[in-house]
Amino acid sequence: MKTFTSAAELQQALREEKSHHNSIGYVPTMGFLHQGHATLLEKARNENDIVVLSIFVNPLQFGPNEDFETYPRDLERDENVAAKAGVDYLFYPTVHEMYGEEPSVKVVVQSRTDCLCGKQRPGHFDGVATVLTKFFNIILPDRAYFGKKDAQQVAVIDGLIQDFNFPIQLVAVDTVREEDGLAKSSRNVNLSVQERMEARELYQSLLKAKEAVESGERNAAAVTALVSEHIGAHTSGVIDYIEVYQYPELKPIETLSGHVIIAMAIKFKHARLIDNITINIE
Ligand code: AMP
Repeated sequence: MKTFTSAAELQQALREEKSHHNSIGYVPTMGFLHQGHATLLEKARNENDIVVLSIFVNPLQFGPNEDFETYPRDLERDENVAAKAGVDYLFYPTVHEMYGEEPSVKVVVQSRTDCLCGKQRPGHFDGVATVLTKFFNIILPDRAYFGKKDAQQVAVIDGLIQDFNFPIQLVAVDTVREEDGLAKSSRNVNLSVQERMEARELYQSLLKAKEAVESGERNAAAVTALVSEHIGAHTSGVIDYIEVYQYPELKPIETLSGHVIIAMAIKFKHARLIDNITINIE
């Protein structure tokens, strides 16, 4: 595995790979790698000749009162995980390498962002789309891998790829969970012991909602109430949102039908956790 901090040098190496007609699979991350990231890398490894991993905690996608400074970072550990996962090129740029002194252009996402994390985190998806536009242009991958845990991100990137004609196949990968159901996340290390125990209830509440839908519940408000009650009763977390939408369009619905998503963000003292479940209703 080769580690690059320079975009130009990585581009040069990848030009060489392309000249040999090697396909490129790309996994963008913010590091502090866990099994969720490893699963994306594994899939990329199976489907491409070359695997590129980027680790970049992107300041553009963090709000002023969010956890940019305290976001967990450990490059040495990440390099070991990446090497084991068969990564060929690790790209680890500085903020200056990505944005220089003052960027002159940014990408603004126009749809699928007025709900869920887009509503709670203004500018977040503009930051995600801007950095990915840059990474896509630097790496020119054939396939890019994203986790369904960040379901709104998948929907937004789908739009970015379509609208900007990136010749890239988006591959969405199922959420990887701890044994008790908690979605793996770099932010889980910021939970207290008590909060970590409570955090299992996020997925439990989604399963409860799924069960209700499978037993015939079709009222969106009743489903969100069920989830909200469960979170209130079993955790000390503060509900940022619990919402139900058509997926991937993220259109609000009163009555559940077709492909729907039940998504939540719950704030604990030092970690805001997100999770979701999608259901196909015949
Ligand atoms: P992050 O480093 O949190 O920005 O995540 C990088 C990529 O890994 C994103 O596409 C995430 O959706 C994905 N990812 C994070 N956690 C998980 C998980 N538990 N299961 C599957 N993919 C994940």
